[in-house]
Amino acid sequence: MEKTKIIELLQLRGEERNVLFGEASKVKDEIVGRKVYFRGLVEISNICSKDCLYCGIRKSNDKVIRYNASDEEILSACRFAWENGFGSVVLQSGELTSPAFVRRVDYILKQIKKLSGNELGITLSCGEQTRETLRRWFDSGAHRYLLRIETSNNDLYNKIHPKTKKHSFEKRIEALNLLRDEGYQLGTGVMIGLPFQTVEDLADDLLFFKKMDIDMCGMGPYIEHKHTPLFEYGNLLKPKHERFDLALNMIAVLRLLMPDINIAATTALQAIDTAGREKALTVGANVIMPNLTPCKYRKDYLLYEGKPNLDEDAGFNNYIKTLAEYTGNKIGYNEWGDSLHFQKNKK
Ligand code: SAH
Repeated sequence: MEKTKIIELLQLRGEERNVLFGEASKVKDEIVGRKVYFRGLVEISNICSKDCLYCGIRKSNDKVIRYNASDEEILSACRFAWENGFGSVVLQSGELTSPAFVRRVDYILKQIKKLSGNELGITLSCGEQTRETLRRWFDSGAHRYLLRIETSNNDLYNKIHPKTKKHSFEKRIEALNLLRDEGYQLGTGVMIGLPFQTVEDLADDLLFFKKMDIDMCGMGPYIEHKHTPLFEYGNLLKPKHERFDLALNMIAVLRLLMPDINIAATTALQAIDTAGREKALTVGANVIMPNLTPCKYRKDYLLYEGKPNLDEDAGFNNYIKTLAEYTGNKIGYNEWGDSLHFQKNKK
Protein backbone atom coordinates (compact mmCIF):
# COMPACT_ATOMS: atom_id res chain seq x y z
CA MET A 1 0.00 0.00 0.00
CA GLU A 2 1.31 3.43 -1.00
CA LYS A 3 1.64 6.23 1.52
CA THR A 4 -0.85 8.43 -0.37
CA LYS A 5 -3.41 5.64 -0.21
CA ILE A 6 -2.85 5.22 3.53
CA ILE A 7 -3.28 8.96 4.13
CA GLU A 8 -6.53 8.85 2.20
CA LEU A 9 -7.82 5.88 4.22
CA LEU A 10 -6.89 7.49 7.54
CA GLN A 11 -9.05 10.48 6.67
CA LEU A 12 -12.19 8.59 5.66
CA ARG A 13 -15.44 9.59 7.32
CA GLY A 14 -19.04 8.44 7.27
CA GLU A 15 -20.16 5.69 4.91
CA GLU A 16 -16.74 5.34 3.25
CA ARG A 17 -15.21 4.77 6.63
CA ASN A 18 -17.71 2.01 7.33
CA VAL A 19 -16.57 0.30 4.15
CA LEU A 20 -12.97 0.44 5.43
CA PHE A 21 -14.09 -0.97 8.78
CA GLY A 22 -16.01 -3.75 7.03
CA GLU A 23 -12.97 -4.74 5.01
CA ALA A 24 -10.68 -4.72 8.03
CA SER A 25 -13.14 -6.84 9.96
CA LYS A 26 -13.36 -9.31 7.08
CA VAL A 27 -9.58 -9.60 6.83
CA LYS A 28 -9.37 -10.18 10.57
CA ASP A 29 -12.00 -12.94 10.45
CA GLU A 30 -10.30 -14.65 7.53
CA ILE A 31 -6.73 -14.44 8.72
CA VAL A 32 -6.62 -14.47 12.53
CA GLY A 33 -10.22 -15.54 13.14
CA ARG A 34 -13.24 -13.90 14.70
CA LYS A 35 -11.69 -14.20 18.09
CA VAL A 36 -10.40 -12.10 20.94
CA TYR A 37 -7.53 -13.03 23.26
CA PHE A 38 -7.24 -11.82 26.84
CA ARG A 39 -4.09 -10.58 28.53
CA GLY A 40 -4.55 -9.74 32.19
CA LEU A 41 -2.68 -6.47 32.74
CA VAL A 42 -0.75 -6.10 35.98
CA GLU A 43 0.89 -2.70 36.50
CA ILE A 44 3.56 -3.89 38.88
CA SER A 45 5.20 -0.54 39.72
CA ASN A 46 4.90 3.13 38.76
CA ILE A 47 8.45 4.00 39.74
CA CYS A 48 10.16 5.35 36.64
CA SER A 49 13.59 6.66 35.78
CA LYS A 50 12.38 8.38 32.63
CA ASP A 51 10.85 11.76 32.07
CA CYS A 52 8.72 11.43 28.92
CA LEU A 53 6.98 14.77 28.48
CA TYR A 54 3.51 13.26 27.97
CA CYS A 55 3.40 10.63 30.68
CA GLY A 56 1.66 11.06 34.03
CA ILE A 57 4.07 8.79 35.90
CA ARG A 58 7.21 10.52 34.62
CA LYS A 59 10.01 10.79 37.12
CA SER A 60 9.59 14.52 37.73
CA ASN A 61 5.89 14.34 38.56
CA ASP A 62 6.21 14.60 42.31
CA LYS A 63 2.45 14.52 42.80
CA VAL A 64 2.44 10.79 42.11
CA ILE A 65 2.47 8.40 45.06
CA ARG A 66 4.99 5.77 44.04
CA TYR A 67 4.32 2.06 44.60
CA ASN A 68 5.79 -1.34 44.12
CA ALA A 69 3.14 -4.06 44.22
CA SER A 70 4.33 -6.94 46.38
CA ASP A 71 5.25 -10.31 44.88
CA GLU A 72 2.17 -11.84 46.52
CA GLU A 73 -0.12 -9.17 45.06
CA ILE A 74 1.27 -9.64 41.57
CA LEU A 75 1.14 -13.40 41.75
CA SER A 76 -2.39 -13.44 43.06
CA ALA A 77 -3.50 -11.22 40.14
CA CYS A 78 -1.81 -13.70 37.78
CA ARG A 79 -3.49 -16.60 39.53
CA PHE A 80 -6.84 -14.87 38.98
CA ALA A 81 -5.99 -14.61 35.26
CA TRP A 82 -5.10 -18.26 35.06
CA GLU A 83 -8.14 -19.47 36.99
CA ASN A 84 -10.46 -17.38 34.82
CA GLY A 85 -9.17 -18.77 31.56
CA PHE A 86 -7.10 -15.80 30.42
CA GLY A 87 -4.35 -17.35 28.37
CA SER A 88 -1.80 -14.70 29.25
CA VAL A 89 -0.76 -11.79 31.41
CA VAL A 90 1.09 -8.56 30.69
CA LEU A 91 3.45 -7.18 33.32
CA GLN A 92 3.89 -3.45 32.86
CA SER A 93 5.89 -0.91 34.86
CA GLY A 94 7.78 2.32 34.79
CA GLU A 95 11.26 2.00 33.38
CA LEU A 96 13.90 0.78 35.83
CA THR A 97 17.12 -1.03 35.07
CA SER A 98 18.55 -1.55 38.56
CA PRO A 99 19.87 -5.01 39.40
CA ALA A 100 17.21 -5.30 42.10
CA PHE A 101 14.41 -4.62 39.60
CA VAL A 102 15.86 -7.02 37.04
CA ARG A 103 16.16 -9.73 39.68
CA ARG A 104 12.66 -9.13 40.94
CA VAL A 105 11.00 -9.36 37.52
CA ASP A 106 13.00 -12.50 36.89
CA TYR A 107 11.76 -14.05 40.13
CA ILE A 108 8.13 -13.11 39.35
CA LEU A 109 8.35 -14.61 35.86
CA LYS A 110 9.52 -17.92 37.29
CA GLN A 111 6.80 -17.90 39.93
CA ILE A 112 4.08 -17.21 37.34
CA LYS A 113 5.26 -20.16 35.30
CA LYS A 114 5.29 -22.29 38.42
CA LEU A 115 1.85 -21.34 39.70
CA SER A 116 0.24 -21.96 36.31
CA GLY A 117 2.11 -25.16 35.45
CA ASN A 118 3.69 -23.23 32.54
CA GLU A 119 0.24 -22.48 31.16
CA LEU A 120 0.13 -18.67 31.37
CA GLY A 121 1.77 -16.81 28.53
CA ILE A 122 3.70 -13.69 29.60
CA THR A 123 4.18 -10.36 27.84
CA LEU A 124 6.49 -7.77 29.35
CA SER A 125 6.23 -4.00 28.98
CA CYS A 126 9.01 -2.64 31.17
CA GLY A 127 10.82 -0.22 28.88
CA GLU A 128 14.31 -0.32 27.36
CA GLN A 129 16.59 -2.98 28.81
CA THR A 130 20.02 -4.42 28.08
CA ARG A 131 20.53 -7.54 26.02
CA GLU A 132 21.56 -9.46 29.15
CA THR A 133 18.38 -8.51 30.98
CA LEU A 134 16.18 -9.35 28.03
CA ARG A 135 17.87 -12.72 27.66
CA ARG A 136 17.49 -13.49 31.33
CA TRP A 137 13.80 -12.61 31.33
CA PHE A 138 13.20 -14.62 28.15
CA ASP A 139 14.87 -17.63 29.72
CA SER A 140 12.60 -17.24 32.73
CA GLY A 141 9.44 -17.38 30.65
CA ALA A 142 8.60 -14.05 29.00
CA HIS A 143 8.02 -14.51 25.29
CA ARG A 144 6.39 -11.28 24.10
CA TYR A 145 7.43 -7.67 24.68
CA LEU A 146 5.69 -4.37 24.12
CA LEU A 147 7.80 -1.30 23.59
CA ARG A 148 6.10 1.50 21.78
CA ILE A 149 8.14 3.66 19.47
CA GLU A 150 5.57 6.35 20.39
CA THR A 151 6.14 8.05 17.02
CA SER A 152 8.32 6.99 14.11
CA ASN A 153 9.13 10.62 13.31
CA ASN A 154 12.54 11.36 14.86
CA ASP A 155 11.85 15.12 15.13
CA LEU A 156 8.49 14.58 16.77
CA TYR A 157 10.05 12.00 19.10
CA ASN A 158 12.51 14.66 20.21
CA LYS A 159 9.69 17.13 20.83
CA ILE A 160 7.87 14.79 23.22
CA HIS A 161 10.94 13.57 25.12
CA PRO A 162 13.64 15.40 27.06
CA LYS A 163 16.81 16.01 25.09
CA THR A 164 18.99 13.48 26.88
CA LYS A 165 20.80 10.32 25.83
CA LYS A 166 18.43 8.30 27.95
CA HIS A 167 15.52 9.41 25.79
CA SER A 168 17.00 9.05 22.33
CA PHE A 169 15.08 7.84 19.28
CA GLU A 170 18.09 5.79 18.13
CA LYS A 171 18.19 3.97 21.46
CA ARG A 172 14.52 3.18 21.19
CA ILE A 173 15.00 1.64 17.74
CA GLU A 174 18.02 -0.27 19.00
CA ALA A 175 15.91 -1.59 21.89
CA LEU A 176 13.32 -2.89 19.43
CA ASN A 177 16.00 -4.67 17.44
CA LEU A 178 17.40 -6.25 20.61
CA LEU A 179 13.98 -7.64 21.46
CA ARG A 180 13.64 -9.23 18.06
CA ASP A 181 17.18 -10.60 18.30
CA GLU A 182 16.56 -12.19 21.67
CA GLY A 183 13.58 -14.13 20.36
CA TYR A 184 10.65 -12.13 21.66
CA GLN A 185 7.45 -11.59 19.73
CA LEU A 186 7.90 -7.93 19.01
CA GLY A 187 5.20 -5.44 19.87
CA THR A 188 5.30 -1.72 19.33
CA GLY A 189 2.90 1.14 18.79
CA VAL A 190 2.32 4.87 18.77
CA MET A 191 0.18 7.54 20.33
CA ILE A 192 -2.38 9.08 18.01
CA GLY A 193 -3.26 12.76 18.03
CA LEU A 194 -0.09 14.10 19.64
CA PRO A 195 0.60 17.81 19.42
CA PHE A 196 2.63 18.56 16.24
CA GLN A 197 1.67 15.17 14.73
CA THR A 198 0.29 15.10 11.18
CA VAL A 199 -1.66 12.48 9.26
CA GLU A 200 1.51 11.97 7.17
CA ASP A 201 3.33 11.05 10.38
CA LEU A 202 0.66 8.48 11.18
CA ALA A 203 0.90 6.98 7.70
CA ASP A 204 4.66 6.75 8.23
CA ASP A 205 4.04 5.04 11.56
CA LEU A 206 2.07 2.29 9.83
CA LEU A 207 4.79 1.89 7.20
CA PHE A 208 7.36 1.76 9.99
CA PHE A 209 5.48 -1.16 11.60
CA LYS A 210 5.53 -2.94 8.26
CA LYS A 211 9.23 -2.29 7.74
CA MET A 212 10.07 -3.42 11.28
CA ASP A 213 8.02 -6.53 10.56
CA ILE A 214 6.38 -6.36 13.99
CA ASP A 215 4.31 -9.19 15.46
CA MET A 216 1.99 -7.14 17.67
CA CYS A 217 0.76 -3.58 17.93
CA GLY A 218 -0.83 -1.50 20.66
CA MET A 219 -1.76 2.07 19.83
CA GLY A 220 -4.25 4.51 21.18
CA PRO A 221 -5.17 8.17 21.35
CA TYR A 222 -2.87 10.57 23.17
CA ILE A 223 -4.67 11.99 26.20
CA GLU A 224 -3.22 15.01 27.93
CA HIS A 225 -2.24 14.93 31.61
CA LYS A 226 -2.26 18.17 33.59
CA HIS A 227 0.95 17.46 35.46
CA THR A 228 3.14 16.94 32.40
CA PRO A 229 5.07 19.45 30.27
CA LEU A 230 3.23 18.49 27.07
CA PHE A 231 -0.04 19.72 28.61
CA GLU A 232 1.02 23.20 27.64
CA TYR A 233 0.32 22.38 23.98
CA GLY A 234 -3.34 21.52 24.59
CA ASN A 235 -4.37 24.23 22.10
CA LEU A 236 -2.74 22.21 19.28
CA LEU A 237 -4.82 19.11 19.95
CA LYS A 238 -7.70 17.76 17.92
CA PRO A 239 -10.89 17.25 19.96
CA LYS A 240 -10.83 13.92 21.79
CA HIS A 241 -13.51 12.32 19.64
CA GLU A 242 -11.43 13.08 16.54
CA ARG A 243 -8.35 11.47 18.08
CA PHE A 244 -10.53 8.49 18.87
CA ASP A 245 -11.88 8.27 15.31
CA LEU A 246 -8.37 8.53 13.92
CA ALA A 247 -7.24 5.72 16.23
CA LEU A 248 -9.97 3.42 14.89
CA ASN A 249 -8.97 4.24 11.32
CA MET A 250 -5.33 3.47 12.23
CA ILE A 251 -6.33 0.05 13.58
CA ALA A 252 -8.42 -0.77 10.51
CA VAL A 253 -5.69 0.27 8.05
CA LEU A 254 -3.05 -1.65 10.00
CA ARG A 255 -5.19 -4.80 9.82
CA LEU A 256 -5.26 -4.43 6.02
CA LEU A 257 -1.53 -3.73 5.91
CA MET A 258 -0.47 -6.54 8.27
CA PRO A 259 -3.30 -9.10 8.26
CA ASP A 260 -1.69 -11.71 10.53
CA ILE A 261 -0.36 -9.66 13.47
CA ASN A 262 -2.01 -9.20 16.87
CA ILE A 263 -3.56 -5.77 17.40
CA ALA A 264 -4.65 -4.61 20.85
CA ALA A 265 -7.83 -2.74 21.67
CA THR A 266 -6.14 -0.36 24.10
CA THR A 267 -7.37 1.20 27.32
CA ALA A 268 -6.86 4.77 26.09
CA LEU A 269 -9.67 4.15 23.57
CA GLN A 270 -11.96 3.36 26.47
CA ALA A 271 -10.93 6.57 28.23
CA ILE A 272 -12.59 8.56 25.42
CA ASP A 273 -15.49 6.26 24.55
CA THR A 274 -16.79 3.74 27.10
CA ALA A 275 -17.26 1.19 24.31
CA GLY A 276 -13.95 2.16 22.70
CA ARG A 277 -12.20 -1.16 23.09
CA GLU A 278 -15.20 -3.10 21.85
CA LYS A 279 -15.45 -0.84 18.80
CA ALA A 280 -11.77 -1.52 18.08
CA LEU A 281 -12.47 -5.25 18.17
CA THR A 282 -15.01 -4.81 15.38
CA VAL A 283 -12.59 -2.95 13.08
CA GLY A 284 -9.56 -5.23 13.22
CA ALA A 285 -8.20 -5.53 16.78
CA ASN A 286 -8.05 -9.01 18.32
CA VAL A 287 -6.49 -8.60 21.78
CA ILE A 288 -7.84 -6.97 24.93
CA MET A 289 -6.01 -6.31 28.19
CA PRO A 290 -8.39 -6.22 31.17
CA ASN A 291 -6.77 -4.48 34.12
CA LEU A 292 -5.92 -6.85 36.98
CA THR A 293 -3.72 -4.43 38.93
CA PRO A 294 -4.62 -4.50 42.64
CA CYS A 295 -7.25 -1.75 42.96
CA LYS A 296 -5.43 0.20 45.62
CA TYR A 297 -2.65 1.03 43.14
CA ARG A 298 -4.70 1.86 40.07
CA LYS A 299 -5.17 5.57 40.76
CA ASP A 300 -1.38 5.87 41.01
CA TYR A 301 -0.76 4.43 37.54
CA LEU A 302 -2.33 7.37 35.76
CA LEU A 303 -0.47 7.66 32.45
CA TYR A 304 -3.15 10.12 31.34
CA GLU A 305 -6.19 11.75 32.89
CA GLY A 306 -9.49 9.94 32.88
CA LYS A 307 -7.89 6.49 32.73
CA PRO A 308 -10.82 4.10 33.20
CA ASN A 309 -11.35 1.04 35.46
CA LEU A 310 -9.93 2.55 38.62
CA ASP A 311 -12.36 0.73 40.85
CA GLU A 312 -13.13 -2.92 41.48
CA ASP A 313 -14.12 -4.81 38.32
CA ALA A 314 -17.58 -5.56 39.65
CA GLY A 315 -19.48 -7.78 37.26
CA PHE A 316 -16.37 -8.71 35.36
CA ASN A 317 -17.83 -11.95 34.09
CA ASN A 318 -20.87 -10.12 32.81
CA TYR A 319 -18.57 -7.79 30.97
CA ILE A 320 -16.95 -10.71 29.21
CA LYS A 321 -20.31 -12.02 28.05
CA THR A 322 -21.34 -8.59 26.76
CA LEU A 323 -18.01 -8.27 25.02
CA ALA A 324 -18.50 -11.51 23.14
CA GLU A 325 -22.06 -10.65 22.19
CA TYR A 326 -21.36 -7.06 21.19
CA THR A 327 -18.38 -7.83 19.01
CA GLY A 328 -19.46 -11.23 17.74
CA ASN A 329 -16.07 -12.58 18.71
CA LYS A 330 -15.32 -15.88 20.38
CA ILE A 331 -13.05 -15.65 23.40
CA GLY A 332 -9.76 -17.50 23.22
CA TYR A 333 -10.07 -19.01 26.69
CA ASN A 334 -6.89 -20.63 27.98
CA GLU A 335 -5.03 -19.90 24.75
CA TRP A 336 -1.84 -17.92 24.45
CA GLY A 337 -3.08 -16.41 21.22
CA ASP A 338 0.44 -15.89 19.96
CA SER A 339 0.94 -13.70 16.92
CA LEU A 340 0.29 -15.74 13.79
CA HIS A 341 2.80 -13.51 12.04
CA PHE A 342 5.53 -14.59 14.43
CA GLN A 343 4.67 -18.25 14.07
CA LYS A 344 4.83 -18.00 10.27
CA ASN A 345 8.16 -16.17 10.35
CA LYS A 346 9.67 -18.82 12.58
CA LYS A 347 8.91 -21.62 10.14
N1 SAH B 1 7.58 2.20 30.78
C1 SAH B 1 7.08 1.30 29.80
C2 SAH B 1 5.60 1.08 29.78
C3 SAH B 1 4.68 2.03 30.51
S1 SAH B 1 3.95 3.33 29.62
C4 SAH B 1 7.60 1.70 28.44
O1 SAH B 1 8.26 2.72 28.29
O2 SAH B 1 7.36 0.98 27.48
C5 SAH B 1 2.96 2.52 28.42
C6 SAH B 1 2.49 3.39 27.29
O3 SAH B 1 1.53 4.34 27.73
C7 SAH B 1 3.55 4.25 26.65
O4 SAH B 1 4.32 3.52 25.74
C8 SAH B 1 2.73 5.36 25.98
O5 SAH B 1 2.51 5.08 24.61
C9 SAH B 1 1.41 5.33 26.73
N2 SAH B 1 1.14 6.64 27.33
C10 SAH B 1 1.90 7.31 28.21
N3 SAH B 1 1.39 8.55 28.42
C11 SAH B 1 0.28 8.65 27.67
C12 SAH B 1 -0.68 9.69 27.44
N4 SAH B 1 -0.58 10.87 28.05
N5 SAH B 1 -1.69 9.44 26.58
C13 SAH B 1 -1.80 8.25 25.97
N6 SAH B 1 -0.92 7.25 26.13
C14 SAH B 1 0.12 7.44 26.97
